[in-house]
Amino acid sequence: MIVLFLACVKPPEPVVAQAAVATEAKVAASVAVVLVGDAGKGNQGQRDVAVAVRDWCASRPCDFVAYLGDNLYPDGAKSADDPIFVEKFETPWADVNLPFYVALGNHDHYGDPDAELAYAKSSTKWIQPARYYNFKKGPAEFFVIDTGKGEDGEVPEPQRTWLASGLGASTAAWRVVYGHHPIHSGGLHGDGKVMIETVEPVLQAGKADFYLCGHDHDLELIDDGSAPVEIVSGGGASLREVKGPGPGSRYLASSMGFGYLTLDAQTASLAMVEVSNAGVKAAYEASWSK
Ligand SMILES: [Zn+2]
Repeated sequence: MIVLFLACVKPPEPVVAQAAVATEAKVAASVAVVLVGDAGKGNQGQRDVAVAVRDWCASRPCDFVAYLGDNLYPDGAKSADDPIFVEKFETPWADVNLPFYVALGNHDHYGDPDAELAYAKSSTKWIQPARYYNFKKGPAEFFVIDTGKGEDGEVPEPQRTWLASGLGASTAAWRVVYGHHPIHSGGLHGDGKVMIETVEPVLQAGKADFYLCGHDHDLELIDDGSAPVEIVSGGGASLREVKGPGPGSRYLASSMGFGYLTLDAQTASLAMVEVSNAGVKAAYEASWSK
């Protein structure tokens, strides 16, 4: 009765206060990214991960998918009208209504990588304006790199110069770089020697906060306390055995699944979501503050 009485006498909320709250919500820009790599198999695993992403994003904000390469197994695409785009991208991902910002993987290079760029021109879902490119979302700037055709990643000099100058000029609260090949990895391929020698110094000098990748078909978070934090999310369609965690590895799972990274002005939050016959679960969570 007391509660009811208080509710009755409570004055209506001033309209001005409500307007102020709405404005604040708009200013507090954030971005939520789904991290998926090595997904382009058109198999049951890809379909299972797609269903898990659809369901995950049904109850959470999701702005786009960072598609981390090996988009079309086994040999990429021959042309923009290659039916492989329907078979191994459009159909499996039909129920995930998000833009995919696409990076090239080694398997994409086995075909014609420019066929993927050409396909992007006729697609609202497959976003890939160039082999490497950058874009801004909310408080973050994203740099997508092309780590090439080999089993070990390689980023040629002109692209490294482009990346260094882009990171140096960025005023975003968060700088996120992604490509296909890992720098460090506890997965089957292990550390990328050339990536460590040539790309990691560019990310460190440019104060990149995160490096996202795939190639190893597992899920891993590597954070030794110094930037960039590396997230491997290569479980988009299948899994492989892992070698074992190296220095700074906080979480490593031989599992299909995806990452979910949200960034606002001050805080980054990550969930690593495992997808298996047992179901879908956020197996590991972490957060960082500016
Ligand atoms: Zn690969």
